[in-house]
Amino acid sequence: MILRLKRQHIDILRGEALNVHPVEACALLFGRVNSNEAYVSKVAIASNKLQSTVRFEINPEIVFKELNEAEREELDFIGFFHSHPAPARPSLIDQKGMKLWGNAIWLILSSTKSNLGAYKLMNGEVVEVPIIVESENTCEKPLDE
Ligand SMILES: [Zn+2]
Repeated sequence: MILRLKRQHIDILRGEALNVHPVEACALLFGRVNSNEAYVSKVAIASNKLQSTVRFEINPEIVFKELNEAEREELDFIGFFHSHPAPARPSLIDQKGMKLWGNAIWLILSSTKSNLGAYKLMNGEVVEVPIIVESENTCEKPLDE
């Protein structure tokens, strides 16, 4: 399994993480999932109900609203994004959440190290999911342009 993301979506997630720092930012990821890869085509930013710097929770009403909307748009639920003021690895609390959400991919941005990590539970073990970033254009442009 790999996680494919567009550069523009990463920019949105980083922007939100900066915006709400030091509170953990969170979002839901939607797109297409098959047996080999999850391809993100929609990022739905959600506010962190806990307003915590070490935990996140998305209001269940928001989760249902976004899941319904994605169903209408014929998009699959891929997983959750949240930011950490720590390394981009699932905390013990995250691992409990991963058990509740079976197949979801957990994308974590470290707001201190600025790197991304993606994880999934497989046979009860947390495994890292490789991330592939696509740019919107076929020809690569320098990032600072
Ligand atoms: Zn976490």
